[in-house]
Amino acid sequence: MENTNFRVWLENMQLNHPLVIAGPCSAETEKQVLDVAHELKNTDATIFRAGVWKPRTRPGTFEGNGAKALPWLHKVKEETGLLTAIEVANAQHAKLALEFDIDVLWIGARTTVNPFAVQEIAEALRDTDKIVLVKNPINPDLELWIGAIERFLKMGVKNLGAIHRGFSFFGKSKYRNIPSWQIPIDLKNRYPSLPIINDPSHISGNRELISEVSQTALDLKFDGLMIETHCNPDKAWSDAKQQIKPKRLIEIMDNLKVRKPRFENEEYISKLNAFRQEINEKDDQLMETLSERMKIVESIGRSKRESNVAVLQNTRWQEILQNMVDKGLDQGLTQAFVEKIFKAIHQESIVHQEKIING
Ligand code: PEP
Ligand code: MN
Repeated sequence: MENTNFRVWLENMQLNHPLVIAGPCSAETEKQVLDVAHELKNTDATIFRAGVWKPRTRPGTFEGNGAKALPWLHKVKEETGLLTAIEVANAQHAKLALEFDIDVLWIGARTTVNPFAVQEIAEALRDTDKIVLVKNPINPDLELWIGAIERFLKMGVKNLGAIHRGFSFFGKSKYRNIPSWQIPIDLKNRYPSLPIINDPSHISGNRELISEVSQTALDLKFDGLMIETHCNPDKAWSDAKQQIKPKRLIEIMDNLKVRKPRFENEEYISKLNAFRQEINEKDDQLMETLSERMKIVESIGRSKRESNVAVLQNTRWQEILQNMVDKGLDQGLTQAFVEKIFKAIHQESIVHQEKIING
């Protein structure tokens, strides 16, 4: 993919901070929309967001004001000069967004999972100059995310970007949606010029975590932040726990450290190179250890073949895993990380032993 126009647009803005998209989860009333927009004028926000059609988990909760709220966003633009952004979930939403001259259209996580819906929206937006931002699908599936982005590219949408809003997760986590940072990094490697905005609000699910998640995003060179902002967050009609006041947005932005992409400082470069060298050495050692471990596993395989013993010795494996999890926790590693690594090693060991035993 060539440089997206959105990347060029971003660079031309010459912001001395990441791009900020801020505004309430939902456009509740005209007054609420205008109040928060006027307060956001005094922050780093460039783009005003507000959900007009809300994808809610359960019916009977506030599902947005729909098209009625579109003129309110037009007023925001006229009165504050902020650009406007809404979520579109079908072709009709997309057409209305164009009609009301909304500047940025984002595709929600629940829509990205559905290629039919994405295709229909992409067709409605054929050759548009509007900025289109594709949120990651709810499930951690990079190909599905890329597929949605490609559908827009194919329809001639050039002002394209992605939003990382975290992934749903079965299990305990401090996040509402776990970030799985490797996935947006993989997307960046596949499409280096595609701007990626981080959405700490939907990752966190509560306002306390927003600054920490934003800092990680900046350290990983994300291009911007989308942060839900409301004048009276506790009374918000949706996502009340994760919204922050515009004043808090200013504080968060002031405290973020924006790391420079290039380090002019020679001393810093040599220090960094030394660390990188050390990492390379550790990686080499890891690889050697893994291959030595695998050779031992193969020897065991040969002796199992001679003695006609089953490959999987479940109690032994459970013992190893528990032992490693305990050790990992002592060393400050998370249980999930240690389990993932050892399950992968075990899987590979089984494959090697199967090959020996079954020829
Ligand atoms: C939102 O941005 O308000 C929203 C509904 O987000 P997501 O699609 O990421 O859940
Ligand atoms: Mn929301």
